[in-house]
Amino acid sequence: MTRKILLFILCLMMAATLAGCGEDVWEDNYQQNNEDRDIGVYADTAGEQDDEGDSGKAADSREILSVENFAARLEAEYSILLEDEDGVLSGAAGQMLMGEIDKGFKLFSSGFIRKMTDFYSEYDSQFILRIKQAPYNGDQGIAEWEDDITIILYYDSDPELNGVTVPVMVHEFGHAAHFIVEEYIGEAQSESDMKAFNGDFSYDKDHYDELWDEEIHGAVFAYDYGMSDYYEDIATVFEMLAEEPEKMHSRLIDTRNEPLFLKTSYIRGIMYQYISNECYAIFEPLYHAEEYWRQPAA
Ligand SMILES: [Zn+2]
Repeated sequence: MTRKILLFILCLMMAATLAGCGEDVWEDNYQQNNEDRDIGVYADTAGEQDDEGDSGKAADSREILSVENFAARLEAEYSILLEDEDGVLSGAAGQMLMGEIDKGFKLFSSGFIRKMTDFYSEYDSQFILRIKQAPYNGDQGIAEWEDDITIILYYDSDPELNGVTVPVMVHEFGHAAHFIVEEYIGEAQSESDMKAFNGDFSYDKDHYDELWDEEIHGAVFAYDYGMSDYYEDIATVFEMLAEEPEKMHSRLIDTRNEPLFLKTSYIRGIMYQYISNECYAIFEPLYHAEEYWRQPAA
């Protein structure tokens, strides 16, 4: 089979976001449910990281995690190679950054990630997660599939620029998951499926940020960068699910945003069909929205 070469970049241009109003009860329930289920961005993963360490330590102690142990765990659990050539993870911010990476993984199930790495290994492609020190060229993260499938996250001490974060990681993993789906359904089908949700809106790589009006385009796209092409459309849906799950939930329960609701359902559907149908936390806002729509009218 032909080897695709794909390179995608998450630019710094993120949509400015405002906290949604209304739907307070559902927002509260949503938050509460997430806490109950100890999921994803709300989870304190420090206790689980202790598994690699001394058994004599108290279960709730925050043990210093070595980069070597962390890398060994990612390889054992997901068959993913962690590369930290610039020593970012052994630096001052290392513990926090490894925590972010851990949370990013937990938004997917380990079974789902395993299915991804199994797929790529059939193409002799090693799955690599590479952490790099900025300076970068405006990129916070990159996903590319050449010989190997590589996700690069760029660290910057400025939190506004740092790419070693849950949303950037999930955005890039969204690309890596989409590459797999596209191997099955082909680029033409993948693009036309996505375009079908967009109505009168066309992808525009050069002007998406100038065009963006959240009132109008937020009904169809997660962030402005999603208007640039169908690859970024998919990746930004993943990103928003990770970065602003409550806001995504409020959007998905608003009837004006039906295209985004259908698009998000479609993305979950192709991930289930072509990678794994294991339940994973990234789609929690969609599940909650579906529950909301099933409620009988008051
Ligand atoms: Zn991207």
